[in-house]
Amino acid sequence: MTTHSIEYTTKSSTPEILLGKSLAELTDWVKQQGQPAYRGKQIYQWLYQKGAHSLADISVLPKKWRENQTGYSIGRSHIHYCSIAPDSTRKYLLRLADGLIIETVGIPAAKRLTVCVSSQVGCPMSCDFCATGKGGFTRNLKAYEIIDQVLTVQEDFGERVSNVVFMGMGEPLINIDEVVAAVKSLNQDVGIGQRSLTISTVGLPGKIRELAQHKLQVTFAVSLHASNQQLREKLIPSAKYYPLDTLLDECREYVRITGRRVSFEYILLSGTNDLPEHAQELAKHLKGFQSHVNLIPYNPIDEADYQRPSKKAIHQFQNLLKNERVAVSIRYSRGLEADAACGQLRSSRI
Ligand code: SAH
Repeated sequence: MTTHSIEYTTKSSTPEILLGKSLAELTDWVKQQGQPAYRGKQIYQWLYQKGAHSLADISVLPKKWRENQTGYSIGRSHIHYCSIAPDSTRKYLLRLADGLIIETVGIPAAKRLTVCVSSQVGCPMSCDFCATGKGGFTRNLKAYEIIDQVLTVQEDFGERVSNVVFMGMGEPLINIDEVVAAVKSLNQDVGIGQRSLTISTVGLPGKIRELAQHKLQVTFAVSLHASNQQLREKLIPSAKYYPLDTLLDECREYVRITGRRVSFEYILLSGTNDLPEHAQELAKHLKGFQSHVNLIPYNPIDEADYQRPSKKAIHQFQNLLKNERVAVSIRYSRGLEADAACGQLRSSRI
């Protein structure tokens, strides 16, 4: 924790934030303000469906009352900057109430609009191939700051968001309570199906089991990236405290508890983890496991020396896994030219 986050804690205790509250909670809040219960439903609809940024925006509320409310905040951020890649992916730098900046990505496709949300300001994991970790860690995001990212992208595209992936800045399972609260609200209040929400984690001891206890129906992805413990520790420093076998055991438990399969993400780094022996070793771990492997060809970042493998090597790796009956696909990231692709998000570029 930095001094910044301490300052935020004291600040955030003053205004009451409305975004993230359920219909019942908003109804309670308006009653406390001396308003009739149905005003709660009006605020709820304006917050989640009509994109209100302040109570003053909510024209159905009594003018005098909405203009005189203090001690609350709707909880929306401001778009500080937006860059658009040739493939129409938009990367946003959003300014939070305490002045910190986070990155969010909007990825349009036929009949889909996916938002890649951040769960933290920065990231403490320091994975060797990822730009976010190189910029350090500042603080966890609150649930409303995650929901806001989705509403902001929805508003900017003028289109409903269909999918949300927790693959922006940060490690969601360090911030599990706020992430679970955001998932529930995105599902119940914003109206996005749980299966269209993806939580991606590098894995932390005990945290995958803890997430499983919430019995969410979200898509669950684990960033594996290596076929053995030694290699994984080189790429992901925190893996030292989390043996690969223990991680895989917890993933099996996740499947047992939730009835949902696990996706494994495997970044392909030329000459490092993309050799035929790595594919064989990975297949051994995953044989008979209710899972799916997503191969992610490395997206270059300034701070690391890795190379993306050739198309031939990528397909060879995929075929070796297929031959071992491992379900596998290749996921090329979008937004590369706007530095908006997986691993390219960082807080320092403003
Ligand atoms: N902390 C979470 C979510 C953020 S990263 C996690 O680790 O899963 C989302 C995905 O992008 C992860 O699989 C991550 O390992 C991957 N990634 C990070 N840097 C990358 C890069 N330079 N190229 C391609 N994928 C990268």
